[in-house]
Amino acid sequence: MLLKLNKKAKSEDLNNLIQKLQWMGFTVSSNKSHHLAILKGIDEKTHIQKFQKLDFVEEVTPFKNKFKLVSREFHPENTIIEIRGKKIGGDAIVMMAGPCTIESKEQIEQSAQEAAKSGATVLRGGAFKPRTSPYDFQGLGEEGLKYLKEAADKHNLLTISEIMDPDDLEMMEKYVDILQVGARNMQNFSLLKKLAKSKTPVFLKRGFSATYQDFLMAAEYIVGGGNPNVILCERGIRTFETYARNTLDVAAVPILKSLTHLPIALDPSHGTGIREMVSPMAKAGVAAGADVLMIEMHPNPDQSVSDAKQTVSFDTFSEIMQDLKVIAKAVNRSFG
Ligand code: PEP
Ligand code: MN
Repeated sequence: MLLKLNKKAKSEDLNNLIQKLQWMGFTVSSNKSHHLAILKGIDEKTHIQKFQKLDFVEEVTPFKNKFKLVSREFHPENTIIEIRGKKIGGDAIVMMAGPCTIESKEQIEQSAQEAAKSGATVLRGGAFKPRTSPYDFQGLGEEGLKYLKEAADKHNLLTISEIMDPDDLEMMEKYVDILQVGARNMQNFSLLKKLAKSKTPVFLKRGFSATYQDFLMAAEYIVGGGNPNVILCERGIRTFETYARNTLDVAAVPILKSLTHLPIALDPSHGTGIREMVSPMAKAGVAAGADVLMIEMHPNPDQSVSDAKQTVSFDTFSEIMQDLKVIAKAVNRSFG
């Protein structure tokens, strides 16, 4: 249930109401817009009329969907996540780029140089890789994260890397500005609950078969548990089509933006699995309103230990960035 307070409401009224609701057994949350959400509790419908009678309450409505704190109803303004002076979710679109996997100090250093030169803000690189086969390379672990941070610091970039094991959180926070939750872990609720206790921003990728509601409910675990810094990433879903690795659901961008205040990202690399399709789909993402793009690039794409087929070269990456700046301008945005 959502309570919208009117201009007569003083902070004192709000605090008293929250206390009363908590005493009655409800779980509540409030925000800067003077909206109060009743998330969980006893027999909420019977209380609607009582709340409506309060003179500082403008409107009492049931939530339209199951997700609450991540919804636009509760929080109409866009969430802007600020990390060391860099903003995600604001007017400027953020590019996250780098190899699928951190392979060596040189490889990530060269990637950082290219990312910075072309105008990316965040350096990506997996150190713990969720591989379909247990016999494939699993990542360099903490050693890889050290290389990632060193390379990023040198070029004034932020870092993102995937967390798979909740027990790695404290170690990873030493190196990583944004924690990625991969598609395979979107509904790993123990991991989500652990990340909710952290303040480090989370980049949550959509599961292969997750509906928008499933996706937003996964984000609700993190936000409701205490970490408001969540970015949602569309990275392609499984459909009957088998030509491409995944079917990139570009419509997810405007749809999710209408449903939630969280920043929305698009990953055209995993979304298609095809190197040549990265540029057109990245352009589509910017045109559709994405706040963030994530692209896999590598000094020698054909030699990538993982995801070689979808990985672009530095030259291609640089061209993509040039093109995207033009599209961004056409939709009144920029790259920052
Ligand atoms: C990745 O970003 O390298 C990755 C494994 O992504 P996803 O979880 O979307 O497959
Ligand atoms: Mn990959």
